[in-house]
Order: sequence, then structure tokens, then C-alpha cells
Amino acid sequence: MIYFDYNGTAPLQKKIFSKLNSINIKNFANPSSVHKVGRNSKKIIEEVRNKLKEKINASNYNVIYTSGATESNNLAIKGFTKKNDIKKIFSFKTEHLSVLDVINEIQTEKFFFETDKTGAIDLNKVEDILQKEKKPFLFSVMLANNETGIINPVKEIAFLVKKNGGFIHSDGVQALGKIPININELNLDLFSLSSHKIGGFSGSGALLIRKGINISPELMGGGQERSLRAGTENILGIFAFGEALDNLEELIEFSKNQLKEYRDYFESQIKKVSNEIIIFGEDCERLPNTSFFSHPFLSSDTQVALLDQNGFCVSSGSACSSGKIEHSHVLQALNVEKKYLDSAIRVSLGWENTKGEVQSLVNFWSNNSYLNGKTTYAR
Ligand code: PMP
Repeated sequence: MIYFDYNGTAPLQKKIFSKLNSINIKNFANPSSVHKVGRNSKKIIEEVRNKLKEKINASNYNVIYTSGATESNNLAIKGFTKKNDIKKIFSFKTEHLSVLDVINEIQTEKFFFETDKTGAIDLNKVEDILQKEKKPFLFSVMLANNETGIINPVKEIAFLVKKNGGFIHSDGVQALGKIPININELNLDLFSLSSHKIGGFSGSGALLIRKGINISPELMGGGQERSLRAGTENILGIFAFGEALDNLEELIEFSKNQLKEYRDYFESQIKKVSNEIIIFGEDCERLPNTSFFSHPFLSSDTQVALLDQNGFCVSSGSACSSGKIEHSHVLQALNVEKKYLDSAIRVSLGWENTKGEVQSLVNFWSNNSYLNGKTTYAR
């Protein structure tokens, strides 16, 4: 199988396999235990905390370990809103569901901005609305979209939020390891990350909270993580997160150079297959590894299945949750026409992909008469 679904999750970085055994034998204990093995575990989780801060310029932030970005987003938005008596939350319809569903559940006023058809954000509109806002507010905007790969102008939004007295959270999951992140420069209050998108384990992530910002916990009990996230820390998960972070600069370089070249090559080739192919977010700044496109001949599920049977793992944009393919809420927010909505496919590349693998997908796509549209498939 050739794996092209890195935005869904990435394979464990190979070097981590060999190190896990030794860590489990010597440092398996509860980091809150005072004995030597417990202290070893504690040392590891503190080292990774510092490493994460260093890698994204977050010396002015506290790192709270979580079970991943879903939890980080929940904790950030619910915990901040509750603690600070927030009366209004601003966000976009293109956010991940772990942001949208949380905002929709909270009993505050909410306002979701639209992007234009290309996926771009209108900063004038944001400014216009924020400067009229009198209530204490939180703004949540992702750094990069998991489906389209579109990179949002988070620094500019943070500037407008601060200018108008608000607070800002960002979901940085898809940006980590693909583009450089400098959280201090972005001027964020809260920032969510997940380890499995950079080759650590799923079930491990972090919420960064700017020093001086207070939130309420969602999980209470043992007092771990500054009493903001009770529960014994996931030592192996955190260890693997740290190991994966060691290669952050290499991952970003690979993404900026090779993956961008592969992605651009892929897109240039599939566009030759048919002039009916559209690439979402093509005119926006995008993650270098992501291609989200539509060729309105076959439904997304048929394409994903056909590619799967022939050795390629790709996804429709929204296969994240149940394995069931539904229309992408991101494309719906972009007001994409139904025929394109029905056929969307995401190819997301990563560090184990080669140009040869991309070429295989191009060849398959061009030569398969169902995919290239030469054979009409009865729906
Ligand atoms: N936000 C974004 C943008 C994501 O892509 C994902 C993972 N698909 C999440 C949040 C959720 O992360 P996790 O799987 O670590 O809960």
C-alpha cells in the first residue's frame, strides 16, 4: 500500500520503535511517584515540555499535556470561556469539528465568519465586526485547514483580536511539522497540538496556554498538569512526542522542498487528465503536502474504494470520524457546487513518500478509465 493520508494520521517515526523498549523498562513509572523510577518519568515529561516550547518559541507559555488536539480544543474553548465569563465566541465554518461542535454546545453567543469561495478570509470584514464587539470574546481560528491545507492569516487575526480587547485560540495541528510555527510571534493565548501528525502516537497532544491566562479544567482529580488536566500522564506518548519533535526542522524542510515539489507535480499531472478537475484552495497559501481536489465523474467513496483496491490510501476530506464518507463541511462552507462536493478527494503527503510513489498515483489516475472519466460509472 502507498500511504497518502498524512493529514489523517502519520506513521510512527521509525526511530521511535527502537527506543520505546528501553524507555518502558527504565521509565515506566507514574511521574508523580517520588521514587527514582517515578523521578525518571517526571524528568522525561519535563524535558519534552521544554523541547516543545523551544521548537515553537513558546517560552512565555505553559504546556499542558492532553490526549490529543480534540481534547486540547475542548479544554481551550470550554475552559477559557467558563473561567473568563466569555460572552461571545467568533470562529469560521471551516474549522475542525472538535472546535465547531464545542462552540455550538457552549451557551454563549457565537458568530461564524464565512470565507470566500476560494477559502480566503476577508480581514476587513473581521475587523469591521470585531470593532463593534463590546462583550468579552474569544476567537478561535485554525492555523492550517486539515482538508484544503489553506493557511489562515492567524497573526493578522490575532492583531485585530488584541486591538479589540479579545482573546485568541488556534488549532495548530496540521501546521506542526509542515510549516514553521512561532507562537510568540503569532501572539496567541491558547494553542492546540497533536503528536500523531508528526509521527508520534495518537492519543497524545498538548495545549499551550500563555502565562497569565487562566482556564478551568475539564478533568479534575489528581492535580497533574497544574491541576488543569488530571490523570496520570501518558509517558510513552509524551516520550514519542519528544522524539518526533527532535526532527521537526527536517520535517518542515522536507515538506517545503520535496513534498511541495511532489504535490505540485501531482496537481499539474492530474489537471492534464481533465479540465473538469478543480483543486480547492489552489489560489490560497496552502500546506505544501496537501492536495484536495475534485473530478466530478465518480463519487468520493467510489474513488477512495477503487484507489484502496489498487494499493493507494487517500481520503475524502471528511473520513475522519466514522469511516463513513459524508460531504465535507469545509467544502460546504466554501459553497462548492454539489457535483464537486460529491467527488472530493484529499491526497496528503508525508516524509515516507517518494516521487516514484507519486508517479504511480499519477499513472494510475491517468490510465484508469473510471478515474480519468473515459468510462461512465453508473451511480
Ligand atoms: N484539529 C485538526 C485540524 C485535525 O486535523 C485533527 C485531527 N484530524 C484534530 C484537530 C483532532 O486531533 P486528535 O486526533 O489529536 O484528537
